[in-house]
Amino acid sequence: MFVLLNNKFIDRQDSLIDIEDRGNQFGDGVYEVFRIYDGEYFLLDDHLKRLEFSLKETQIDYNLNQSKLKDQLLTLAQKNDVVDGGIYLQISRGSAARNHPFPEQTTPTVLAYPIPVTQPKEQQQNGIQATLYQDIRWLRCDIKSLNLLGNVMAKQHALDYGVNEAIFYRDKDHVTEGSSCNVFIVRDGVIQTHPANNYILNGITRLYIQYLAKQLDIPIKEEVFSVDELKQADEVFISSTTSEVISVIDIDGQTIGDGQPGPVAQQLLDAFFDHKDIQQLP
Ligand code: PMP
Repeated sequence: MFVLLNNKFIDRQDSLIDIEDRGNQFGDGVYEVFRIYDGEYFLLDDHLKRLEFSLKETQIDYNLNQSKLKDQLLTLAQKNDVVDGGIYLQISRGSAARNHPFPEQTTPTVLAYPIPVTQPKEQQQNGIQATLYQDIRWLRCDIKSLNLLGNVMAKQHALDYGVNEAIFYRDKDHVTEGSSCNVFIVRDGVIQTHPANNYILNGITRLYIQYLAKQLDIPIKEEVFSVDELKQADEVFISSTTSEVISVIDIDGQTIGDGQPGPVAQQLLDAFFDHKDIQQLP
């Protein structure tokens, strides 16, 4: 496997990161996961825009040259023969003697490599089960930060409980998102999802779904919903770069709708592939 590490393409075995890299010690860095379909990056510019936002908000002093990084990412995919898969990219603040303040002189560490991703067809056909989990994370969930301990704990809780996904709630009136996805409900034909603020990651797939809903004339609103509204919804579905659109058919033993993936999620999933050639979201 070829890895992109600080502007060089090297073999995985040779890609060493310093023990005092701040990504390692503090989770002091940001990341992106890109999806490649038919050899082409999907919504690459939108991912790079979010990466730029994460870097700005964390004050990581990395002068992102989008066109250079784009070229490198394309080369990385080609070198690894990625036709249908994913690319993981992370940028940490760099390496320095362990101390909390931002180091004065350090160069960010940029790392990218391919990860296996395939369409989760079985889950899309049958739907998944989920459990609720208190949102124990910090208050800047809009930054795609390497600090994923809350997300990791939530996901493990779900798996230990025998279901696929954890859905976060701050309190009973405030459902936020999933451990690694955005969450949507459908009520009386209207799609609803959490507003894009500091409580959630503004998923690129979430933005794509908003675009698709417009194309399909399905009303969509950004408004907080409660645990009860989630459980009583006609449909619940999740979205992410790797999941695309997956229906949630059961939450903590409560059947959602008729216990089958719903028609709105199916319509969005069909449209997802019909509009996949879109270069950038409007
Ligand atoms: N929220 C969280 C917490 C996530 O980890 C992810 C996936 N990285 C998402 C939402 C969905 O984002 P995207 O559609 O950009 O993959």
